[in-house]
Amino acid sequence: MSDSIVDSAGQGMSKRELLAMIGKTAGASAMYMAMAGMEQAQASNFKGPVKLEGGAKGASVLILGAGVAGMTSALELSKAGYKVQVLEYQDRIGGRSWTLSGGTTYTELGGATQTCQFAPGNYINPGPWRIPWHHHGLIHYCHELGVELEPFMQVNYNAYVHNTKAFGGKPQRFRHVQADYFGYVSELLSKSVKQGALNDAVTKEDAEMLLESLRGFGALDRNMRYVKGMPSSGRRGYDKEPGGGLSAVPEPSDPIAFSELMQSGLWRSIAGNLQWDHEFTIFQPVGGMIQVGKAFERAAGHLVRKNSKVTSIQQNEKGVVVTYKDTKTGEVMKAAADYCICTIPLPILAQIDMNVGGELASAIRAVPYSTSVKVGLEFKRRFWEQDDKIYGGITYTDLPNSQISYPSSRYGAKGPGVLLGCYTGGAAGYELTASTPEERVAKVLEWGSQIHPQYKDEFMNGSSVAWHRIPWTLGCFGTWTEQTRADHYKNLCQMDGRIMLAGEHASYYGGWQEGGITSAIDTITRLHQRVMAG
Ligand SMILES: Cc1cc2nc3c(=O)[nH]c(=O)nc-3n(C[C@H](O)[C@H](O)[C@H](O)COP(=O)(O)OP(=O)(O)OC[C@H]3O[C@@H](n4cnc5c(N)ncnc54)[C@H](O)[C@@H]3O)c2cc1C
Repeated sequence: MSDSIVDSAGQGMSKRELLAMIGKTAGASAMYMAMAGMEQAQASNFKGPVKLEGGAKGASVLILGAGVAGMTSALELSKAGYKVQVLEYQDRIGGRSWTLSGGTTYTELGGATQTCQFAPGNYINPGPWRIPWHHHGLIHYCHELGVELEPFMQVNYNAYVHNTKAFGGKPQRFRHVQADYFGYVSELLSKSVKQGALNDAVTKEDAEMLLESLRGFGALDRNMRYVKGMPSSGRRGYDKEPGGGLSAVPEPSDPIAFSELMQSGLWRSIAGNLQWDHEFTIFQPVGGMIQVGKAFERAAGHLVRKNSKVTSIQQNEKGVVVTYKDTKTGEVMKAAADYCICTIPLPILAQIDMNVGGELASAIRAVPYSTSVKVGLEFKRRFWEQDDKIYGGITYTDLPNSQISYPSSRYGAKGPGVLLGCYTGGAAGYELTASTPEERVAKVLEWGSQIHPQYKDEFMNGSSVAWHRIPWTLGCFGTWTEQTRADHYKNLCQMDGRIMLAGEHASYYGGWQEGGITSAIDTITRLHQRVMAG
C-alpha cells in the first residue's frame, strides 16, 4: 500500500500530511471559536413560558439594570404579583441590546462624544446583532412582545475571505475557497479509500458509500477528480455564466491550485460558519437589536426608573437598601425592598459598595471582560451590492478590522448605505479602544479599502463603540475559564442573604442575550421558591 497521494495539481502528499491538514482544519475551527470569544456552543435550557405560581406573599424586589436579564426578571416577577422596581443608569431600556442610528448620541470613557450621522433607515448593532434559532428564550420574548424577526445573513458565498499575505493581497470569493477546499479534501480522501489506506477503519460496504458521497460532497468528476469542469463550476461558479440564446454556453472556471489554497490559510475562514451558533436559521430584529429593549419597555417600562446610577447595595436580615444618584439632577436617593436582583455588569459591580459574603465578593472580581470594537461606516451608495454583488453576509480578513458585515436588509436601497466595517477583539480591539473615535474610523477605512477600493471615494461618516470605554459595562462580556468556573461560578449565582445576581455573566451562555434571559429565569425561580418556602 502506497503512503503517497497525488493531487490533481500533480503534487505528492503523504498520508501524514493529509492527516495534518485535516488536523489543521479542526484547529482553524477551534481558533475561530476562540476569536469569536462569545460564541459558545451551548444549548439553551429555556423550558417554555415562566410559571411562578402561588402568589408573591406581598414580597417586593429591587432589580438593578434594565438589560434583557433585568427586564425578564421584572416582567415575570410583576406578572406573578411581586412589587417590582427597576433602577437603570441609562435613559434607555435594553442595556447592550442597542442600535446606533442617525441622532444616537453617546459619550465614552475619556469624554469623547459621538453623534451618529447615518441617514434614516441605516444602522449598526454595536453589541448583539444575531439570534440563532436555538435561542429559545429570546425568541419566545421576541414573539410574545412583538419584535419582528428577519433572517440575518451569516454566510454569503459571494463575500470575500482575505489574507494580506496570499494572492498578492487580493481578496478571494468565499465560494471559491470553500468549493475548492471541499473538492480537494474529497478527492484526496477518495484516493485514500481506493488505495485501501483506510481498510482498518472503514468496511468495504461503507467505503463504497463513502466514495459515492464524496463525489457529491466535493463536486468531483466521474474519475473522482476535482478539476476544472461543469461539476466544480456548478459549485464555485463559472468564468462565463450560463445565459440565454446564442451566447448561452457557460465557461467553467479554474479551481485555485491545491498548494496555493493550502498555503493561503483561507480555509481558516470557512469553518466558523459551520458552528451551531452560526448555522441557519439565524435572525435579527427588523430595525435593529434596540427593538428588544423597546419591546420590554412596552411590556414593563412602567417599572423602570431610568437615569438612576446605583452606588451602594446594603442588606440586613429584613431587606435590602440601594443608594442611587439621579444622573440628571444629581440628587442622591434610596430604594428599599425585601430582595434584590442585581444584573449590573461585573466590572462595575466590583466598584460598588456592597455588603455580601467573601465568596460572592471574590466571584464578582474574578471574571474579566473581553475587549471588542465595532465600527459602522456610511457610504454614498451600496457599492458592495452594486459593484461586488454582495447581498448581506460577512467578509473575513487577517487585517485588524477582522470582519466586514454587509446589511441583511433593504437590498437594492438607493442612497447612502451602512456596513459594519470592523468587528474585532484581542490586540486589535485594544489598539482601537486606545484610539479616538476619529482615529478608529480612519484606520478602519484604510484597512477596508484594501478589500473594497471604493471605500475612499464613497465614504461619508462613521461611528464606533469600543466596549471597554462604555461606562455602563466597561467591557464586552464576561470571559470564564475552566478554572474560574470551578472556583467561582456557583458562588456568583448562589443567593447571598437577600441578594442574587443575574445576567449573561451568570450563565454558561456568556456573550449572548440568551444567557441573560436564562440566567434571569433561573434566578427568579429560585427566589420564588424561597418566598414560597416562607
Ligand atoms: C460586541 C458584542 C457582540 C454581541 N453579540 C451578540 C449576539 O450576536 N447575539 C446575542 O444574543 N448576544 C450578543 N452579545 C451579548 C449580549 O449583548 C449580552 O449577553 C446581553 O445583552 C447581556 O444582557 P444583560 O441584561 O445581562 O446585561 P446588560 O444588557 O449589560 O444590562 C445591564 C444593565 O445594567 C445597567 N447598569 C450598569 N451600571 C449600572 C449602575 N451603576 N446602576 C444602574 N444600572 C446600571 C446598564 O446600563 C445596563 O442597562 C454581544 C455583546 C457584545 C458587547
